[in-house]
Amino acid sequence: MGQGWYIARMQTACSKDELRALLAPVRGKRIVLVPTMGALHEGHATLLRSARSLAGAEGCVVASVFLNPVQFDNAGDLAAYPQTPEADLQLCRDCGVDVVFMPTPDVMYCSDRSITLEETHLSTVLCGASRPGHFAGVCLVVNKLFNLVQPTDAIFGKKDYQQLAILRRMVRDLDIPIMLHGAEIVRGEDGLALSSRNVRLTPEHRAAAPSIHRLLVQAAAAYADGADADAVCASVRNGLNAIDGVRIDYVELVDAENLHAVTDDARPALLAVAAFFGEVRLIDNIELSRNV
Ligand code: AMP
Repeated sequence: MGQGWYIARMQTACSKDELRALLAPVRGKRIVLVPTMGALHEGHATLLRSARSLAGAEGCVVASVFLNPVQFDNAGDLAAYPQTPEADLQLCRDCGVDVVFMPTPDVMYCSDRSITLEETHLSTVLCGASRPGHFAGVCLVVNKLFNLVQPTDAIFGKKDYQQLAILRRMVRDLDIPIMLHGAEIVRGEDGLALSSRNVRLTPEHRAAAPSIHRLLVQAAAAYADGADADAVCASVRNGLNAIDGVRIDYVELVDAENLHAVTDDARPALLAVAAFFGEVRLIDNIELSRNV
């Protein structure tokens, strides 16, 4: 249950004005924002509970539930994205959220909007290379949410590692006075990273999907023991290619900070994967380091 300052029950805002009115009494206190696209699961719940403990009893937790059309490069993917608003509200309530912002695209965007916001270095690789415009859409919506909510803090998951890196860059380069927090990847017992898209997997692909994490863990151990980037990526590719109906988008080992090729073995690295299991595109990653 929300344990806030003025709200005994969670409040829902569908318009920008409603949101501003609900937040007016908490200006000056800690406000923690968790942006989501809905179809919430235990991964989101973990971020929301972290937000609650970060905000404390005095602060305010805001969750946004907005399926942002601007970040979808594929109309079919947007149309098939699950939406469960009633269950989302219940989960937010259970996690102690104070305010849920649930706008429609028409509320969020003017029909003749004409400003874009493009990060030009970290966005050129990995998911940015295969999903043109995706991260510009993410930066735009997150910037708008930051302006509307004016949080002191915001929490993002490391499952979308590249997104977090790009948003950190946006906050740095635009001097946005908000502290970003990265949350560890939440997995099912079988190791599959929780994702709203998992419900779209066929039973066969759902059974096979935990191999992604298994392959990443094996590859991380090989990297720690000295295997080179090519060998590490090849082992993950071979493992994924052995699964029926899987098409690899990318398997790449990159510098964990700049997301480009590793030039210094001593720096933390990231092994990132995107693969289609049938129609469903899954992503996962693991942070790597060498054994000293
Ligand atoms: P989404 O609704 O997929 O846009 O996700 C909203 C936020 O939850 C993003 O910051 C994601 O990185 C985060 N998130 C989604 N799934 C997970 C997960 N399995 N573990 C950690 N964070 C997650």
